[in-house]
Amino acid sequence: MPLPQGTTPVPLPIFLPGMSPADSTPTSAAAATTTQLPEHLTKEGAGDKTASSTTNGLSESPAKEFPQPRLRLHLNELTDAGTSIFLSSISPSSLLPSAVSRVQKALYVHPSRGYHMPNTRSVTLIVRPMDGVAYTTGIEIDPEQHKEIHLSSRFVASISPERRSQELEGVIVHELVHCYQYNGHGHAPGGLIEGIADWVRLGAGLAPPHWRKGEEVKGKWDAGYQHTAYFLQYLEERFGEGTVRRLNEGLRTARYEEKPFWTQTLGRPVEQLWEDYKKEDELKRGTRS
Ligand SMILES: [Zn+2]
Repeated sequence: MPLPQGTTPVPLPIFLPGMSPADSTPTSAAAATTTQLPEHLTKEGAGDKTASSTTNGLSESPAKEFPQPRLRLHLNELTDAGTSIFLSSISPSSLLPSAVSRVQKALYVHPSRGYHMPNTRSVTLIVRPMDGVAYTTGIEIDPEQHKEIHLSSRFVASISPERRSQELEGVIVHELVHCYQYNGHGHAPGGLIEGIADWVRLGAGLAPPHWRKGEEVKGKWDAGYQHTAYFLQYLEERFGEGTVRRLNEGLRTARYEEKPFWTQTLGRPVEQLWEDYKKEDELKRGTRS
């Protein structure tokens, strides 16, 4: 269902050139001003050459920025209650670029680190009446480079007023992860894919109040969403910052097969890691009670 291109142009950047694109501030400044990059500059892999000398992150060039996708917004039912709520709850022209930036940094740190970010050239956010919350897909003509995020206006209308902006940002960050993550050549478990998306959301401080850490231990490691996100958070704490990025990178390089994937990345099978996680959780609970 390809949509007419360019129906809604990218809103003019509200931040102008001249502002510092400091790596530590994931604001929309740098992102918004680079949405018009010529195509040859958006080709991925620009940072590989310096990767070996910058593993500690100290010598990163502040001038180097991740390529930004063209961002579009489609409001399919302008008179829909959810559409008005969407527009009055967030500012898409600043939120989208800053969320893209946040996702890129969460999964790839910095262009000079040697991670291979997918060449996502455009992301179109479509707000329309539909069931469910949101989903991400690639457009038929080029599903790898051109993504669509469909957001349900009915869902938007159902969020309690005080939660609207946080919830919408959280959902958008989650869906944007799907525009930038790898999937083990299509063979990674859906739960891992969804878990990584919610791990980024969790790290962004956008966890909704109904997420409860600890509930996941009753299920499987790949139950998905926040359940797997908390497990990934544990792995990140145990094996160090960048662990989830390494997992994502592993999902790029080879077709996912559970045993080799986990043992090669973290030195042991995922079932063992899951048991360790549950044990630690139990221990923490024991200490608390
Ligand atoms: Zn998802």
